[in-house]
Amino acid sequence: MQEQAVAWRHAGDEIGVVPTMGALHAGHDSLVARARRENQRVIVTVFVNPAQFGPNEDFARYPRPFDQDRARLEALGVDAIFHPAVDQIYPPAFKTRVDPGPLAEVLEGKSRPGHFAGVLTVVLKLFNLTQPKRAYFGQKDFQQVVLVRQLVRDFGLPVRIVAVPTVRHTDGLAISSRNAYLDPGQRQLAPAVHHAITEAAHGFAGGETDPVRLEALTRERLAATPGLVLDYVAVVDDTTLSRPAHAIPGNVLAVAVKLGSIRLIDNVVLGAERL
Ligand code: AMP
Repeated sequence: MQEQAVAWRHAGDEIGVVPTMGALHAGHDSLVARARRENQRVIVTVFVNPAQFGPNEDFARYPRPFDQDRARLEALGVDAIFHPAVDQIYPPAFKTRVDPGPLAEVLEGKSRPGHFAGVLTVVLKLFNLTQPKRAYFGQKDFQQVVLVRQLVRDFGLPVRIVAVPTVRHTDGLAISSRNAYLDPGQRQLAPAVHHAITEAAHGFAGGETDPVRLEALTRERLAATPGLVLDYVAVVDDTTLSRPAHAIPGNVLAVAVKLGSIRLIDNVVLGAERL
């Protein structure tokens, strides 16, 4: 992969990379389409990264429909699919890990210790193997975007990180491979997450800038949904992940809930035109 990528760069082609874990859906398509528009070469990586799963998470049962993914990516016209085996990325002698620091301890990181260390370690390796000019990540995984940007800044990586808006089902639920785990009843309740954060974002647009009140608004809305258990709701700065004294456009309202054993995350950028 690296030899091919270096050859493309030497020929003057810019490379866009889209890191994924496969089980591709319309959200991934949107990242690939954006990469296709902005680069001469597009590489999609398909790798279920064991390092970013906790011991009680779904690594073993995570869906791996590779033949379907390949057909989908061929139809989107990508130049390469990088689909390594686990021991190609992590051979027995593999020892070095990226330490993402304190921003990996909050929000998602609080419930998922080690998750972002695993993400940043594989992202750094995938960047070195694919030599991208640009890398495409979904806004749905907002904290991941923040931490990948931190990685790029801290290590001086020559890669531009592009955050792509969340693609949703028509009822508002953010598309995710993990939605397949929801039973029909849970699936019906799941859009409540999007509705709650959208209502809070409208509150902001209507002049409410107290982050605590915006969080409370979201919490109240979610409390009306039976069986939905809130993990966190937070208005945060999009670089420091700390709560601002007053919310300003560009701050992010992020939420995580559980429906049964299924964890759902979503977020909205306050003051953004697209809600
Ligand atoms: P995953 O395969 O779940 O690791 O996701 C690969 C990339 O696709 C990540 O950057 C995700 O943030 C992004 N992604 C996942 N779901 C969506 C969505 N509904 N809309 C936009 N991007 C998404």
